[in-house]
Amino acid sequence: MKAIVVGSGAGGATIARKLQSNGFEVNILEAGSFFKPFTRNISWSEPLRRWGLLGGEGNFRHLFPHMNMFRSSEDLLLVRGITTGGSTVLSCGNIVRTHRGLEEIGLDLTPEFQKLEGEIHPEPFPQERWRPLTREMCHVADDMGLNPQPTPKAVDPRLCVSCGLCEVGCHRGARWDSRRFLNEATCKGATLHTNCKVEKVILEGNIVKGVEINHHGKKNSLKADLVVLSAGGIGTPQILRNSGLEVENRLWADIVLTLGGVAPGARQLEEPPMVWYSEHENYILSPYLDILSHFFHKPWRKVSVKDRVGLMIKLADTEKGSVYDDGRVEKHLTKHDDEHFDEALNLAKEVMIGAGVSEPLIKGMYNGGHLGGTVPLKKEDVPLMRPSWMPDGLWVADLSLVPRSQGMPTILLTAALALRVAHEIIHQYEKSLR
Ligand SMILES: Cc1cc2nc3c(=O)[nH]c(=O)nc-3n(C[C@H](O)[C@H](O)[C@H](O)COP(=O)(O)OP(=O)(O)OC[C@H]3O[C@@H](n4cnc5c(N)ncnc54)[C@H](O)[C@@H]3O)c2cc1C
Repeated sequence: MKAIVVGSGAGGATIARKLQSNGFEVNILEAGSFFKPFTRNISWSEPLRRWGLLGGEGNFRHLFPHMNMFRSSEDLLLVRGITTGGSTVLSCGNIVRTHRGLEEIGLDLTPEFQKLEGEIHPEPFPQERWRPLTREMCHVADDMGLNPQPTPKAVDPRLCVSCGLCEVGCHRGARWDSRRFLNEATCKGATLHTNCKVEKVILEGNIVKGVEINHHGKKNSLKADLVVLSAGGIGTPQILRNSGLEVENRLWADIVLTLGGVAPGARQLEEPPMVWYSEHENYILSPYLDILSHFFHKPWRKVSVKDRVGLMIKLADTEKGSVYDDGRVEKHLTKHDDEHFDEALNLAKEVMIGAGVSEPLIKGMYNGGHLGGTVPLKKEDVPLMRPSWMPDGLWVADLSLVPRSQGMPTILLTAALALRVAHEIIHQYEKSLR
């Protein structure tokens, strides 16, 4: 049985490994190139940054092309990884269970969460290596009754050098990313094609026969018995739309806003991001020096990296955003999002000031990198783990399937979903594999 898996991020790498181990002949098609972390010391850029000579965030792609950033509206930047490992190679390494909206559709991923946690072994980062101000903010949050918890992390403290730059790739190999599953899949015989962008699926009537690709600039087609789209919350709907299939205008992104303050000598970058978090109904608060805002947000320009302190709000945003036929993406902050941000900002301010951070506290850039919701599962889809309208032989295994925003880390959720989809595929094709 020939299976094509599109994308090698949290969803793609997980399902490719599982299908390959269960008798499928797996071909992984990845739009990006092999991932290389950004290894330059950022101190060289500080003078340029202060003088505003780095320009806008768009310039970052010349230095680090794996991070794909674009504005979905004037005030919102969306971020994703286009490379082997997808967005997991840009992650902070937080590995947390989240399942907002899944109970409503009758989906319980507990067995998959347990299985993956048993492999990835998330553990809190040792508290003695948190920066003093981060510890102090945690104490203040605790005194305020915000119940801060150490974040389970897939970061090996023995290898981590506390450079604080997880989002540009871990050059020490301390942080787990989905390339570990990808490597296992290829060691077991799966084939990986990089720089291979899938443009559309090939349909004969209501049956999928393969995909059309652009490989190193050359158009071609590849045949398969089944195609799994794991191109993420934007890539997957782009392929579906190109193929004449419908997607929903329910893109969510778990929008992040970091409140930036000043504490001389805090050196917050010298720890992994987000070592603790405080969970609320619609958002989390977590210590975080937002490097995007540090580099590219004009109001943050005057403060040096060693004195900058941030507390992040990650919001479960309104599920409203569109991926159009021409590939464009449109998403705005809603009034509802603004109201929740206002509530969270008040708490963040209290924590920071209570911990001795100096005012002015200035908002960073709105950005989102948990992209989902464009092919949402409904209750009736859960038994077969695929939307009922999908052509035969076509599957989705990425965050696009999740109907609600989470306001929480989403790698574990995506991988758990992909594992469940894999079980269903194996079950359905069992007879043909014998
Ligand atoms: C900066 C950042 C930090 C994050 N930190 C965390 C964290 O600490 N913890 C956490 O749990 N979550 C984190 N996330 C979110 C998490 O990484 C994503 O939610 C998760 O990776 C989503 O998995 P996915 O498979 O849906 O998409 P992705 O992992 O993005 O994978 C999509 C893949 O498809 C490929 N692709 C796209 N289009 C095509 C095409 N047309 N043809 C072929 N290939 C294509 C991409 O190159 C990519 O490899 C972070 C995200 C970002 C951006």
